[in-house]
Amino acid sequence: MAGRIETPQKIKFIKYIYEKGEGIKSGKIADKFRIRTATVSRSLHDLGEAGYITYDPWQKIHLTETGISFARFLYRRHRILTLMFTCSGLCEYEACRQAEAIEHLVPRENIDQICKAMGHPSRASCGIIEHDPACCGECA
Ligand SMILES: [Zn+2]
Ligand SMILES: [Zn+2]
Repeated sequence: MAGRIETPQKIKFIKYIYEKGEGIKSGKIADKFRIRTATVSRSLHDLGEAGYITYDPWQKIHLTETGISFARFLYRRHRILTLMFTCSGLCEYEACRQAEAIEHLVPRENIDQICKAMGHPSRASCGIIEHDPACCGECA
């Protein structure tokens, strides 16, 4: 049985693979996050099963179309939550850190609601907020 996708660790892996763009070996991920290769392999296996990445232990890892749109959602979610926290009085550093701590628990429909309530903001302290066409059903 495949493990859960929405864990802080897997979210970090997906963001990292997305940032790298041109494909990455699993050993690099293990080095980057200082995690045992076996643990990384297990997570990558789950992400492959779920259709987010192409995973062959000997090849570079790439995000699939589904993985890319998920990665874009992960950034939007992180930044919407960061913005929500800075608007509530947290400093930029704390806002970003707390968003990272809870983001995997907040489902997409809630992020869309918050995004809408905040008027589809275009930026948070840690980066630009991109709205994909499906975002909230009404972003331009
Ligand atoms: Zn941040
Ligand atoms: Zn939006």
